[in-house]
Amino acid sequence: MPQTVERRPQTCGFCDGRGVTWKKDRDPSAANESRTCPACFGRGSVLVKQPSQECAACKGWGRIGRGLDTTGGEFQLCEECGGMGWQDAVLMI
Ligand SMILES: [Zn+2]
Ligand SMILES: [Zn+2]
Repeated sequence: MPQTVERRPQTCGFCDGRGVTWKKDRDPSAANESRTCPACFGRGSVLVKQPSQECAACKGWGRIGRGLDTTGGEFQLCEECGGMGWQDAVLMI
């Protein structure tokens, strides 16, 4: 029997499930300007191998930086998890 890997949707670490990042704090006039999350490509969730474990490198944030993305979406993606914030995560199809 082949081993099956169970994966479940978990909240994307980079965008905290929003699917987008916003520019607003850097440039108030761009308050409504957003871009698709580069980690989950707008899905807001990613499929994570169970039992899920946060990425050790970014502690689940998906990036080098803490808090909401107020830098205009220019946080650097965590290289370990590709920004998803989880170990062994893949994109939702
Ligand atoms: Zn995301
Ligand atoms: Zn990470």
